[in-house]
Amino acid sequence: HLLSKMQKVRNSIQVCCRIRPLKQSEIITQERVTVEPLSETEAGCLDSKSKKWRSYIFDKVFGPDQTQQDVFDEVEPLCLSVVDGFNACIFAYGQTGSGKTFTMEGTEEDNQWGICARTMHKVFEILNFKRESFVASPSTDASADNSPECDFNYTIELGMLEIYNDDVRDILSEDVISVDLKRDLGGKIQAQGLIKVVVKNLQDVIEVMKRGNKNRSVACTNMNDQSSRSHMIMQATITSGTTGQPRTIGQLNLVDLAGSERVAKSNVVGKELKEAQHINLSLSALGDVMEALDKKASHVPYRNSKLTYFLQDSLGGNSRTMMIVTACPAESSVDETHCALQFATRVR
Ligand code: ADP
Ligand code: MG
Repeated sequence: HLLSKMQKVRNSIQVCCRIRPLKQSEIITQERVTVEPLSETEAGCLDSKSKKWRSYIFDKVFGPDQTQQDVFDEVEPLCLSVVDGFNACIFAYGQTGSGKTFTMEGTEEDNQWGICARTMHKVFEILNFKRESFVASPSTDASADNSPECDFNYTIELGMLEIYNDDVRDILSEDVISVDLKRDLGGKIQAQGLIKVVVKNLQDVIEVMKRGNKNRSVACTNMNDQSSRSHMIMQATITSGTTGQPRTIGQLNLVDLAGSERVAKSNVVGKELKEAQHINLSLSALGDVMEALDKKASHVPYRNSKLTYFLQDSLGGNSRTMMIVTACPAESSVDETHCALQFATRVR
């Protein structure tokens, strides 16, 4: 079942769209719905000028009735690849309020957990299954249990960071410190001194997520909703193998991007202008990288932003990438929604 799904992942970049339902406040103000799924792979969005519907093609479109589990089903093959030692990135892209955080993190209430928790749950399930089948299978001889060959084990470490303007910050550190990006001896990009917490089960993962969110919100008191102005990355490093054999290492990056909304240049100054410039720059750098990868270009411009520089080991090569464009269905956001959908068709 899972294998057939994996075959569906034709290329290494998959682009999906998720249209959220109208919120209560939008229902009260009688907002018109101008973004709709047209088919499993097509989203329609009303053009405010021509009054015509434009269609955008994706690998998959999720409508307002589709659940967190439906979205996760699409992500599942990626989990397997990470456990097998591949790197992967999942991005949520869209304007503020379109459902990025709901899709990536979700909420505890009514088991509305998003991709982060569901993915980690699956990763634990796969690895625990491997570990158990290893111990159970080799021999009926009780002494074999102590034999090093049948000792499969794994370690999962979680780090959380945010990229705000040009600053990479460790949000698992209580004082939210800035970290430098450097190549390690193996040539891999590392955030220097980033705190990595070993997690043993889903509850540990949830606690790490809470800790990151708490530190992040402490750091942004008296700033105007900074969370939508920075990219947040949860990075899981999964190391597994049997004793005495080379270890398999896979890295999973779950990214809640800064809001993609364009800021009218004429009326922002100072800090807000600087934020907007950094967001525009990093999102277009991400688009450039994905487009270059999609075209199999010889040069991939990873160095143009901290975001792509940090994630370069997990973008391209044997890595899997999924971009989920989140869309607000309301007419009042329709111009922003066109821009977000347009961004997605560029990288697909
Ligand atoms: P963003 O992170 O893009 O700014 P949020 O994820 O915070 O947006 O979503 C905005 C609001 O819409 C939140 O109240 C969230 O719970 C709700 N929401 C988003 N997506 C969905 C969805 N698919 N189903 C139900 N509610 C959603
Ligand atoms: Mg958010």
